[in-house]
Amino acid sequence: MAVWLAGTGQAEGPAGPVLFLDRDGVVIRDCDYLADPAAVEIIAGVGAAMVRARAAGFRIVGVSNQSGIGRGYFTEDDFGAVMARLAADLDRFGARFDGFYYCPHAPDAGCACRKPLAGLLTEAAADFRWDPSLSWLVGDKMSDLELGRAAGLGLALVRTGYGVAAESAVRKRWPADRRLLVADDLPAAVDAILARPEFAADGKSS
Ligand SMILES: [Mg+2]
Ligand SMILES: [Zn+2]
Repeated sequence: MAVWLAGTGQAEGPAGPVLFLDRDGVVIRDCDYLADPAAVEIIAGVGAAMVRARAAGFRIVGVSNQSGIGRGYFTEDDFGAVMARLAADLDRFGARFDGFYYCPHAPDAGCACRKPLAGLLTEAAADFRWDPSLSWLVGDKMSDLELGRAAGLGLALVRTGYGVAAESAVRKRWPADRRLLVADDLPAAVDAILARPEFAADGKSS
């Protein structure tokens, strides 16, 4: 597994809420095997939504499969250039990731970090402490949600990216559940999470 941004000083103190975000199809438009920084396009409202979540006490941690590296479609440097562009674009909204972990391996590499396997969360746990009952994972694919469910996180499927296709599969897989929601996009998912009783006080005070 690989780390683009390690949380520093986040592993001490009480375990709090962490918002785990898939990147492609959640934070930015999903272009297959994105390797061109000029093609980075933040989904509308995402920067402000990340700011709202941080104001409510969430740390924001990216977890992303980037098999294009292992497949030889692009390099680690290309990935880094895309991430630098994304970070600069988010910064214009005052938004940022607290940590970002990714799997660079091809699907047949037998690694332990390609979602839905748990390696990216294992890596994040070296840098962050979180309370699963207060923490959520937002993704656009079943593999995202499977990772989150295995870790006891709340789950939000968004309809940007692959979400529309994933929705019926998710609804078949898991019955309606207070910690599973489907939202049009990340801003709507964040609003729904922050409206929950356990976050209402923090949400109002920010
Ligand atoms: Mg995705
Ligand atoms: Zn991997």
